Amino acid sequence: MSPEYVPLVDAGPRLRRRNNGNIPGVNTPFWYISQCDRTPATLHVKDGNLGSINLLLAGAPKLWLFIPKCEKTNIERRMKELYGPGRVPCSQEIRHYNAIISPALLEKWNITYYLDYYLPGEIIVTRQNTYHQVLNIGPNIAESVNIKFNNTPDMPAGYVWCKRGSGPAACGPHVLTASDFSSSYVEARSNMKRIRTGGTTPVPKTKKHKSRASTSLVPLNAGIAYGRFTNAHIYDRFATELGYQVDNPTIAFLTRLFFAIASPEAVNQLRQTCYLRQTGKDGHLFSKGETIIQAMEALDKIEEVVSSSSIIRRYHLLRLTERRTALVQQYKLNPAQHTRTRNGGGEKTQKVESLALQDLYYEAYNDRDPPPELQKKLKNRLYHGRNWASLAERYSVGILALLPTSRDTDLTNTQIERVKDRDFLVFLDILQQERGEFIQQMSTAVENVYVNILFNPEPVQCYQFEQVDQHILHNTLFDDRRLLQR
Ligand SMILES: [Zn+2]
Repeated sequence: MSPEYVPLVDAGPRLRRRNNGNIPGVNTPFWYISQCDRTPATLHVKDGNLGSINLLLAGAPKLWLFIPKCEKTNIERRMKELYGPGRVPCSQEIRHYNAIISPALLEKWNITYYLDYYLPGEIIVTRQNTYHQVLNIGPNIAESVNIKFNNTPDMPAGYVWCKRGSGPAACGPHVLTASDFSSSYVEARSNMKRIRTGGTTPVPKTKKHKSRASTSLVPLNAGIAYGRFTNAHIYDRFATELGYQVDNPTIAFLTRLFFAIASPEAVNQLRQTCYLRQTGKDGHLFSKGETIIQAMEALDKIEEVVSSSSIIRRYHLLRLTERRTALVQQYKLNPAQHTRTRNGGGEKTQKVESLALQDLYYEAYNDRDPPPELQKKLKNRLYHGRNWASLAERYSVGILALLPTSRDTDLTNTQIERVKDRDFLVFLDILQQERGEFIQQMSTAVENVYVNILFNPEPVQCYQFEQVDQHILHNTLFDDRRLLQR
């Protein structure tokens, strides 16, 4: 095999990201070489509910038997009746029987099946949850890899991964486990070898493919593919779930925001803010403040001195919003307070929201009924704090330090603050499904940035990214767990 060989089949960007693009036979191709007549691959579905693509390069045809997805439960039940339950209740129990089932038996079981064959130069695609087995009619060679469809969830719901080991409670020494399937780079098991069951001999491809897969994981500013998903995939999800026309600017904006949160650029902005604080410049901005008056004053200063992209601004806006929420809660818990005597004795029931707002006016301006321009200022700030509050509620306050608003990312605080409530909830749901685990960890990792650095009179240097060369940071991979190192 030439070291320059370029694979003909590809796992696609979402699957290639798994385990640093290094799961032989799953996201890097295997060659399947059959050296004699009538060698089989036993009945199975792919690990992790994946699909697969199989290209016959040369030799005799392969005969395929497929059992459609609608028969999945039936075939599993029949197989367990025939062979007994597996040692480990994993989702690969049928594969572990190492069995070839005859069409005659399937007919007796009244299970639908399809037969197909292909010739050199042709491709067979297997779909998720479709059981299949293969018979090589004679010697042949095929190239195959698993694939993930655009609508496949990132981790299959309800899928029970195999347990590696040779004991009675394990599936075997060469099975694929949940941690093998992890998208982490750090956890990459570069020396993992996996041998498939069946009569053909799998041949791992050259190292060439490993480096190719790794370089496809591009940093944010390269613009198209971000490891396990592409721009187009996330754009489509927003377009579908928001229900807007496909060219609605909100879709493009939320797609940019999706990739920007907790990205290497986000860490870089935080690093610059920390640097500013460490070197004492603009230190006067960073009074943590105990009262709403101080929060409002800090916002005044920030708006005068620095751009609206400030990480600090979000924190203070969040404080206003949280205070209002707390006041509303208090009124809801004490219904008696809803009724107040106003205007010379006439009783009037007021909404808890407006009572809370009056209290907030009082806390900010020492006046329950301040001049209209001051009322408007506070109301505007509450409005601008909504989405920051939703983010902080979902993750933690650390997330507010992880949104890069710069020319590079084409995002501003104001844009983010103006996203409608309903659209922002859709955004949060998709973000959680696709990147939730990583963002939760990042958010927790920098949770103390406000206390330890930004509001600390004697800031302590505590984040690894403050020590890293800026160029290196820019070239860090997307969702790279190295960003979490302390
Ligand atoms: Zn198993």
